[in-house]
Amino acid sequence: MIEPLPLSLTTAFAALLGAIIGSFLNVCIHRLPRGTSIVSPPSACPECGRLLSWQDNIPILSFVALRGRCRTCRAPISVRYPAVEALTAVMFAAAWWYYGPSALLVSRLLFGCALIVLFAIDLEHHLLPNVITLPGIVVGFVFSFVTEPGWLASLVGVIVGGGVLWLVAEGYYRIRREEGLGMGDVKMLAMVGAFVGWQLTLLTLMLASFAGAAIGLALIATQRGTMKYALPFGTFLAIGAAVAATAGPAILQWYLDFL
Ligand SMILES: [Zn+2]
Repeated sequence: MIEPLPLSLTTAFAALLGAIIGSFLNVCIHRLPRGTSIVSPPSACPECGRLLSWQDNIPILSFVALRGRCRTCRAPISVRYPAVEALTAVMFAAAWWYYGPSALLVSRLLFGCALIVLFAIDLEHHLLPNVITLPGIVVGFVFSFVTEPGWLASLVGVIVGGGVLWLVAEGYYRIRREEGLGMGDVKMLAMVGAFVGWQLTLLTLMLASFAGAAIGLALIATQRGTMKYALPFGTFLAIGAAVAATAGPAILQWYLDFL
């Protein structure tokens, strides 16, 4: 009989793995909107073209060691790189600690990685790539056969998530004659539905709308922009989905007790 490894050790290992995966997510965030391959060529400084050596590629630590600048040309490196690596590391550690070895752990981590990539790309480019959202719908639905939320709730989640936003987008377009919500948001919420089921998808939409309205109003109040200028909706959907996937059941329970 083999002694199981202590939880502290396996959690540290999960964080390490998360930091490495986070480094890969950075590659996706940088390259997907530019339409370049995510496997080749190797990473280089966008300013001077210097190929990154292994010392420049260590998650978080390289950024700190280089003080956020390219080794050769001293061009600043975006703080997004260590931020995504640290966030992914924390997510992996927390998910491992909370879910333990299970199908739900794998499902939640894939979902979380997709949300991080979508959040970062939408924030910078106002774009939600199909290569993330469409396979995400399939992966979420496949996992629903062996874990939460079950295939029926997942299927209804895809239809409700995609359907509600499609109606909003279509309605907005017919009234205003301009695009308010993109089809990327529609596919993204369908993906959320596949992973977490229809109840938590409606919660995601509610949380994202509240957060979007609050930040939009704050921007107007401080006169930094109009309602239209507000942040892209996909970033709010990502935050709403992350909250719904973790604290969602507790929030729904609190709401039902409140009624
Ligand atoms: Zn450089």
